[in-house]
Amino acid sequence: MSSSLSTMAYIGATILFILSLGGLSNPETARRGNLFGMVGMAIAVLATVLGPRVTAGGIPYIVAALVAGGAIGLFAAKKVQMTQMPELVALMHSLVGLAACLVGFASYVDTSTVFPTPAEKVIHEVEIYVGILIGAVTFSGSIVAFGKLSGKIGGKPLLLPARHWLNLAALLVVVWFGREFLAAHDIAAGMTPLLVMTVIALLFGIHMVMAIGGADMPVVVSMLNSYSGWAAAATGFMLSNDLLIVTGALVGSSGAILSYIMCRAMNRNFISVIAGGFGGGAPAPKAAGGEAAQPQGEVVPVSAVETAELLREARSVIIVPGYGMAVAQAQHTVYEITKLLRDKGVNVRFAIHPVAGRMPGHMNVLLAEAKVPYDIVMEMDEINEDFPEADVSMVIGANDIVNPAAQDDPGSPIAGMPVLEVWKARTSIVMKRSMASGYAGVDNPLFYKENNRMLFGDAKKMLDEVLGALKA
Ligand code: NDP
Repeated sequence: MSSSLSTMAYIGATILFILSLGGLSNPETARRGNLFGMVGMAIAVLATVLGPRVTAGGIPYIVAALVAGGAIGLFAAKKVQMTQMPELVALMHSLVGLAACLVGFASYVDTSTVFPTPAEKVIHEVEIYVGILIGAVTFSGSIVAFGKLSGKIGGKPLLLPARHWLNLAALLVVVWFGREFLAAHDIAAGMTPLLVMTVIALLFGIHMVMAIGGADMPVVVSMLNSYSGWAAAATGFMLSNDLLIVTGALVGSSGAILSYIMCRAMNRNFISVIAGGFGGGAPAPKAAGGEAAQPQGEVVPVSAVETAELLREARSVIIVPGYGMAVAQAQHTVYEITKLLRDKGVNVRFAIHPVAGRMPGHMNVLLAEAKVPYDIVMEMDEINEDFPEADVSMVIGANDIVNPAAQDDPGSPIAGMPVLEVWKARTSIVMKRSMASGYAGVDNPLFYKENNRMLFGDAKKMLDEVLGALKA
C-alpha cells in the first residue's frame, strides 16, 4: 500500500472513530457507534500492516500476534460475565499501559533510527521518557483497580502518612532523573534513570489507586480510561504513527470529560479524588452512648405476593436497578413485569443513577439488552423530583445509590453524593438477599424507614415469583 493510500485510510479511520464516540453518547445510537468503531479499527489495522513501514519479513510476526491476541480476546469475551466487565476493562487499560512501556524501551534500545539533528533525538527521548511514565502509571494503577473491582483488594483507601509529600517527592525525583536520562551519552548510561523512573511511576500508580475509597472507584475507572488514551497517544509519538496519536488523544480527552461528568454527578472534587483518600472510612458520628450511630427503626420484610399486590394497585411505579440486578441477570424478568404493568395502565419508569452498577452506563446496557424502551429510562436529574408522586419505588439490587445517609449524615463516606430519593414514594420496596452493605461498605438507613419494605432473596428468583403472582 502506498503511503498516500495509507494516509487516506488513516483519515477514514479517524472520522469513523469520531463518529463512534458520537454514537456512544446515546443508548439509541450506541450500536451504530460500536459498529463505526469496529470498522474504523479494522481499517486502521489493515492500513498499518499493509502500509509502507511494515516489511514483508515482519508480516508473519504480526499475523501470529494478531491470531494469538484475537484468540485471547474472543475467549475472554465469551467467558467473562456481564458483571465482570469492569474488571476486564481495567485489565485492558493495564495492557495499553504495558504496551506503552514496552514500546518505549524498544524504541530506546533501537539504534536503527537516524536523527537528522540532535534536537530531534532529544524530542524522541522526551517522548520515550514521558510515554513510559504515563504507561507505567496506567499499568500499575489499572492492576490495582482490577483488584479492587473484583474484590481481591479491599475497597478501603490506604492512606499513607504524608502521602501528598510522597507524591510530590516522587514527581521531583522523576523530573531529576529525566534530566539525567537526556544527558546520558549512550544507551547503557540512559537505562538506569529510565528504569528508576519506571519503578517510581509503577509505585505512584499503585499508591494513587490504593488511596481511593470504594465509593469513588467510578471516577478512577474513567480516569484510567483517560490515562490509557494518553499512553496510546504517547506510543503513537514514539512510533511516529499519526493515527495512534489521534486515537489516543480521542480516548484520553473523552475519558477526561467522562471523569469530570462522573465527579459532578457524585458531587466530588476532581482534584480531591485524584489526590486520594476520598470516599473512605470517615468515622461514623457517635451516638449518645459512645457507640457508632445505628440506623433507627424496624426492618419490615415483604413477600413476592404482597409485592405483586402493591404493584397491581399502583398508578405510578419507579424501578431503580443496581448492581444486584446485574449479578442476578434479572433484567429480562424486570421487563416482563414492566410490560405486564404497562398493559394494565400503570405508569412504569426506570431511574438510572450515574454510578449504578460497576461501570458507567452499566444499567443502560442491561436494560437495552432486555429491550426496555429508551423513553421510559430516565436519568437521575430527570426523575428524582417525581418520587413523591410515585406509589411504589422498586429498588432491584441497588444500595449505595439509594442511601439517604448521603444527604443526612455528614460523616458518611458517601456524604454529598446525590442519591435517588426512593423513600419519598408512598412505599419503597428493596429487593436484595440480606442486610449486607453495598460497594461503599456503608449501612443504609433506607431499610429501616417506616414506608420501606424488604423483599429478601435473589433478584431474579424473587422477580420470577412476583411475575407469577401478577399473572395469577
Ligand atoms: P451496591 O454495590 O451499592 O449494592 C448492590 C446490592 O445488590 C448489594 O447491597 C447486594 O446486597 C445486592 N445484590 C447482590 N447480588 C444480588 C442478587 N443476586 N440479587 C439481589 N440483590 C443482590 O450497588 P449500586 O448499584 O447501588 O451502587 C454502585 C456502587 O458501586 C457505588 O458505590 C459506586 O460508587 C460503585 N462503583 C460504581 C462504578 C460505576 O462506574 N458505575 C464503578 C465502581 C464502583 P445483598 O448482598 O444483600 O444481596
